[in-house]
Amino acid sequence: MTDKIKEATLILKRSRFTTAFTGAGISVESGIPSFRGSGGLWEKYDPKVLDLNYFLKDPAGSWVVIKEIFYDFFGMAKPNAAHLVLARMEREGLLGRTITQNIDNLHQEAGSAIISEFHGNSKTLLCLQCHRKYRSGEISLEHVPPTCRECGGILKPDFVFFGEAIPQLPLAEAYEAATLSDVFLVIGTTGEVMPANQIPFMAKEYGATIIEVNPEPSNFTDKITDIFLQGKATEVMKKLEILLFPAALDDDQDGID
Ligand code: NAD
Repeated sequence: MTDKIKEATLILKRSRFTTAFTGAGISVESGIPSFRGSGGLWEKYDPKVLDLNYFLKDPAGSWVVIKEIFYDFFGMAKPNAAHLVLARMEREGLLGRTITQNIDNLHQEAGSAIISEFHGNSKTLLCLQCHRKYRSGEISLEHVPPTCRECGGILKPDFVFFGEAIPQLPLAEAYEAATLSDVFLVIGTTGEVMPANQIPFMAKEYGATIIEVNPEPSNFTDKITDIFLQGKATEVMKKLEILLFPAALDDDQDGID
């Protein structure tokens, strides 16, 4: 692993433009389970509550589950070391953009500013009638479904439900990043969700080196990954941080083994 971390560090230092591409796995160590797999949210909940047609038919029923997953539960999560290292890389000029499939706002809370949220953000609620947006903290979820203060329309979390299109801006930003990046740092995603999973493939076609962090191989690993850093996001990113920013040696010298 040490050699691979060193190789990844050199590539990241030489890169003119690096993009991070993150999935649910980067937030697992913040206490947010992924959707799929063992311990995933779909073992406990029915994914139909995130289907747009189902939501429109039964907003109150959908909201009971949505509130429990995304507001009572997600709301408590804090960024972990992997989010913080990406934010530091951005601040220090080593990361040009973060594209995330996550909707938990943890990259922003860690300090990342150049973010493309491919699937939106659970911290914003959108009125389906007048399209006014609210921060989730402004709206009481005591009674569901929550409604718009202006027009009384039903509010929906402003993230992409099954059956909805990807918002134009993050899509355009992701395509641009895929075409101009020297390096794609892919963290914690199975690569099963379309069309997000096409972005790293596109980057590879345009010549990017793919560095992947995941405890398990993903749909990318055998096909496009150049350097597979197998491990949990926080462990691997802390090791990378030590080599990318040598002053961090004081904090955790024996992190590399
Ligand atoms: P996924 O659920 O399909 O896969 C999670 C991936 O993370 C797996 O490859 C797994 O091996 C890996 N993983 C598990 N623990 C890890 C760790 N500690 N460090 C690094 N990787 C780890 O996730 P996906 O590919 O992002 O697709 C799921 C979809 O669900 C996304 O579109 C996302 O919007 C949504 N989602 C988001 C959140 C969130 O916002 N935190 C949570 C669940 C699901």
